[in-house]
Amino acid sequence: MSEHAVLLDIQNLQTYFPITGGVFQKTVGHVHAVENVSFQIREQETFGLVGESGCGKSTTGRTLLRLIEPTAGEILFDGQDLRALSQDELRQKRRDMQLIFQNPYSSLNPRMSVRQLLEEPLQTHFSLSQKEMDEQVLWISQAVGIAPEQLSRYPHQFSGGQRQRISIARALITKPRFVVADEPVSALDVSIQAQILNLLLTLQKELKLSYLFISHDLNVVRHISNRIGVMYLGRIMEQGDTEAVYRNPLHPYTKALLSAIPKLDPLEEKSRIRLEGDVPSPADPPKGCPFHNRCANCMEVCRNVVPEERELEPGHFVSCHLYD
Ligand code: SF4
Repeated sequence: MSEHAVLLDIQNLQTYFPITGGVFQKTVGHVHAVENVSFQIREQETFGLVGESGCGKSTTGRTLLRLIEPTAGEILFDGQDLRALSQDELRQKRRDMQLIFQNPYSSLNPRMSVRQLLEEPLQTHFSLSQKEMDEQVLWISQAVGIAPEQLSRYPHQFSGGQRQRISIARALITKPRFVVADEPVSALDVSIQAQILNLLLTLQKELKLSYLFISHDLNVVRHISNRIGVMYLGRIMEQGDTEAVYRNPLHPYTKALLSAIPKLDPLEEKSRIRLEGDVPSPADPPKGCPFHNRCANCMEVCRNVVPEERELEPGHFVSCHLYD
């Protein structure tokens, strides 16, 4: 495990969204999008958050940037409690914490040139002269592989991969310390995905960045992450060093997800664990283990008691009654 200091410490994070109904639009329930999530991200480390769509990964990423207000829990950034910051203090902090979006087609304003898109975050966060801004724009565009003569062009004049390079440049031009990358390659052709992942890795080394990397794709997450957390119905089911989790998955859900990765050997294909049943609604989460209605190992205790997180080997945690 990395010996770098902890940059982000998330404890018991909870994000609920109200469900309103009736003539008076009263709150009649809550969507439990993020439930009791705890993890840490060290300096210069990538923590991969993986799980099926709708499991709460993106909401977790946005909550810890406070783009969505948490319902409960602690978010410590470099020891500072982000929940205690005023909107003004938070705005200043944002240059240290940036977001790369999934879709490079909709996240870039089509009426702004690349130069304007890159200058905008600098204007928001710093008071720089035009010459200083020009230097920063040139530096970041070179770092992501955008040629100086392309700076006057508009987003529609670029391919998907190049647009994602522009999005990355926009997120990194303020020299943040922490970046949430939310499915940053899933909208791209497979042939381009590796280029963008390698670019993120190179920039991480150069700029000493920490990433929260969100993806439904286990191969992509394995390629880029030092540690991973597996999410299901708003909770982290298992977390640990990436290789430890891939080599020795402990949670029945992690085992099912990993068994679904296409194998080269057709005999291995037979070992795929097929999950029965539907993912329960986060508006009405089940009692006990959230995975119990789909788990082949379900026991009586699983239907009634939420399993606690246990550390089964150093740095490898699982929430499952099989290990009580
Ligand atoms: Fe399956 Fe029970 Fe473990 Fe949940 S706690 S994953 S239901 S064995």
